[in-house]
Amino acid sequence: MYLKTIKVNGFKSFADNINIDFENGITGIVGPNGSGKSNIVDAVKWVLGEQSVKSLRGDGSMTDVIFCGSKSRNPSSSASVNLIFDNTDRYFPLDYTEVSIKRVVYRTGENEYFLNNEKCRLKDITNLIMDKGMGRDAFNIISQGNIQEILSNKPEDRRVIFEEAAGVLKYKTRKEEALRKLDRTKDNIDRLNDIINELENQVEPLKTQSEKATIYLNTKEELENVEIALIVNDIEKMNNDFQNTKKEIDDLNIEILELSKTSTIKEASLEQEKLTLTKENDNIHLLQKELINLTSEVERLNGEKNLIVERSRYDSNDIKVHNHILELKEKSLIINNEIESSKIDSDYYKEEYSNLENIIKDINNNIINLKTDLSNIENERNNYIRKELSFKHQISILEQSIENNSSLPKSLKYIFDNPKLRGIHNIIGRLIKYEDKYKTAIDISLGASSLFLVVDNEYIAKETIFYLKENNLGRVTFFPLNIIKERTIDKDTFNIIKNHPSFIDIASNLVQNDAKYQNIILNQLGNVIVCKDIDGANEISKKINHRYRIVTLDGEMLHVGGSITGGNNKNNNYINEKYELYALNNNLKIVNDYINKLDHKYNDNNISLKDLELKNNNNQLELSKLKIIINNHEENITNLMNKYQNINNELNSLLNINNVNNEEDTIINSYYDAVKRRDEVEKNVNSLIKKVSLLNDNINNIEDNYRRDNQQLFKKQNIIKDLEIKVNRLDVKLDTLLNTLNEEYKMTFEKAKKEYILTIDDNEARKKVNNLKDIINDLGVINIASIEEYERVSKRYEFLIEQKNDLFKAENTLMDIIKEMDLVMKASFSETFKIISEEFKIVFKEIFKGGEAYLELTNKEDMLKTGIDIIALPPGKKLQHISLLSGGEKALTAISLLFAILRVRPVPFCILDEVEAALDEVNVIEFAKIVTKLKDKTQFIVITHKKKTMEYADVLYGFTMQESGVSKLVSVKLDILGI
Ligand code: ATP
Repeated sequence: MYLKTIKVNGFKSFADNINIDFENGITGIVGPNGSGKSNIVDAVKWVLGEQSVKSLRGDGSMTDVIFCGSKSRNPSSSASVNLIFDNTDRYFPLDYTEVSIKRVVYRTGENEYFLNNEKCRLKDITNLIMDKGMGRDAFNIISQGNIQEILSNKPEDRRVIFEEAAGVLKYKTRKEEALRKLDRTKDNIDRLNDIINELENQVEPLKTQSEKATIYLNTKEELENVEIALIVNDIEKMNNDFQNTKKEIDDLNIEILELSKTSTIKEASLEQEKLTLTKENDNIHLLQKELINLTSEVERLNGEKNLIVERSRYDSNDIKVHNHILELKEKSLIINNEIESSKIDSDYYKEEYSNLENIIKDINNNIINLKTDLSNIENERNNYIRKELSFKHQISILEQSIENNSSLPKSLKYIFDNPKLRGIHNIIGRLIKYEDKYKTAIDISLGASSLFLVVDNEYIAKETIFYLKENNLGRVTFFPLNIIKERTIDKDTFNIIKNHPSFIDIASNLVQNDAKYQNIILNQLGNVIVCKDIDGANEISKKINHRYRIVTLDGEMLHVGGSITGGNNKNNNYINEKYELYALNNNLKIVNDYINKLDHKYNDNNISLKDLELKNNNNQLELSKLKIIINNHEENITNLMNKYQNINNELNSLLNINNVNNEEDTIINSYYDAVKRRDEVEKNVNSLIKKVSLLNDNINNIEDNYRRDNQQLFKKQNIIKDLEIKVNRLDVKLDTLLNTLNEEYKMTFEKAKKEYILTIDDNEARKKVNNLKDIINDLGVINIASIEEYERVSKRYEFLIEQKNDLFKAENTLMDIIKEMDLVMKASFSETFKIISEEFKIVFKEIFKGGEAYLELTNKEDMLKTGIDIIALPPGKKLQHISLLSGGEKALTAISLLFAILRVRPVPFCILDEVEAALDEVNVIEFAKIVTKLKDKTQFIVITHKKKTMEYADVLYGFTMQESGVSKLVSVKLDILGI
């Protein structure tokens, strides 16, 4: 590698474009003072990246290097220098035989660098030449000033050229860069620590808040599931109770109406009886008056009769006979009266008898009817008791079957019975509820998939399959909740079929299920159309090109593509067990209620029957009594009639003998007639009194009945009031529950019923709801946003911690690199120093023709910082301080060191700018000889005024400044140059 060409344009005194071609070996540059020779050195330094204006002998800015004009020339707008190196030996690690490095500066101060005419950064050039012996601090460009500096510098400053020679500058630069990076890393770590500390203050409270909010959301969700299901359950039960109570009220109202009707009738009959009573009392009153008159008349007639009878005793011929006739006459009239009276009594009792007989007949008819009713009730009750037993039996079998999963295939039964298996839900058939009328359609739609087992996820399925395989328990199809996707009927199809008269709904809409199983249910039933009948199903299937399954209420199935399945359906017990149990329990309740009703009816009728039977027994007794009375009267009448006959016979026979006068006859007849009338009236009065007493009894009876009815009425009205309060209470409760659904959960009852199913007991659910509400209350104020905020902040926190760890790693790596570089630098520096030191001794002796010199480290302990002392003893001189050497001695010592370094570490080219200026001719020759010795390994460009030096040059270039202020390259003839 050597410098082939320098192209200069507009740089310092080189106003024109100048190309200087060099050869390997020694090139001398000569010319008068101020002709621009050193400007060439500056140009080379400048291209190689010199940034110090001072070291380029300027004093302002870098634009000072641009040609500033002369009397005859305008200033240049820019300066450019281009160094072209021969790189056939690939000294520069670039795949080019020539490498050009170019720098341009403009008046604006803008600098540009080019590598092989490609624009590049200064750093690219610095890196290329570093440790190649031509860097900024290298020893390949030495001026007279530099020679002085080598000796006058502090020992520490001197080590730079040794470092360059040792090739450790690149390490030094890299180390500096690493240290800068280390500083930056530490700064970054400090900054990160500040942010992390600040975030730590936020993270903890946010974490607590977010955990609280998460608990709140989870609890709220759980509460929602249980509470909605419980509300639905409560609404259904309350509504049932509400409807039943309303029906009870309606029934009671009918009964009350009935009771009021009979009560009104009773009231009317009471009034009627009371009216009769008043009338009869009036009659009694009249008759009693008549009785009083008749009694007076009887007494008066009795007086008259006694008087006439007394008088006639004296008037009569045969007083004895006459008296007897009168006696007989009176007896006859008395008996006649008695007969009449007895007949009246007998007739009265006969009528009583007949009335009672009719009553008995009526009651007997009622008894027969009641008995028939009771027998019917008993028969019906027995039928219902049989039904009740049958339901109970079926329920017990079903409960047992459900408990033991006995209707399920063996595989499923074992899965359900194994408590170790987790994440198992249920078979699809048991996760749905539906109305009885859709049972067949749903059953057919599900088919075998009703036995598909719903599980949490595919891992649970895997685990369970493993269990089945290991125990040889058969096969089961699994539906993992996290995988199964919904299937639905597309909107267009739905619009085509929705108005068809046979269309009922999509099967999934006809079942109720827990919301969490919605995807599974949609997967199985979301694309099945339910129709009323096969004809409608056929029509619909055609309309939609047989693209979806259609099932009818009777269970015919039209498959995708058009095939049809029909016939009898074998019921799948395992699907319906729960549903059937529910239905059976409902039926059992209905039967129980009905049996209770029958029992009540039976008891009521039985009481009425017993009542009537007792009544008729009493009536029979009464009838027998009447019979006896009537017989007694008849007998009495007969006896009296006989007696009357005998008396009349005797009387008639006596009347032939003696007669009664008319007056006597009239008075006696009148008297007994009055007696008869009086007795009759008395009887009537007594009979009426009896009638009145009966009427009173009857009125009391009716009043009792009427009161009882009213009490019943009152009781029932009170019951209705209570029931109405209950209905109102239920109504309010139902409203409250519906409002809760609506306002708190924004849900209609129908939707809630469809999506939420209570899977636990009511009481347990109520306890759970209260517990969950307590948990939510205890949580206090909740910040939902904290969940996202915590996630964001903690992510950032973790990211920053990660970054901090990365920075720590980077810091460690940098420190390792620095340590490693230090080791390399120490070793390389120490090695190079040793060799240069040895060479220096030799070169010094060579140049000084004797004497002694050596190099010394100022701090051997610290190879990275140690300075270098130069100890030089020219021949015959005593050891003295270097500053005491003569100028020439100093120059020679420095040149010795320079050549020692060049011998140890040859550089591709070396520019020596009047370094030998201070030497005498003998020493210049020594200098030139050594340069010549080194020229094989190093290209020398020597700027000199010394003729002896010029003589050793292989090529000479001359500079003049003919046109004032502009350097020119001229042909080299030493005498032309005036040297
Ligand atoms: P010597 O032998 O005395 O060391 P030299 O040949 O090395 O001299 P240089 O130092 O290279 O000469 O050149 C200096 C000359 O360059 C000066 O005359 C100076 O005015 C000129 N010069 C420096 N900078 C500029 C610039 N920006 N524009 C024009 N001329 C400049």
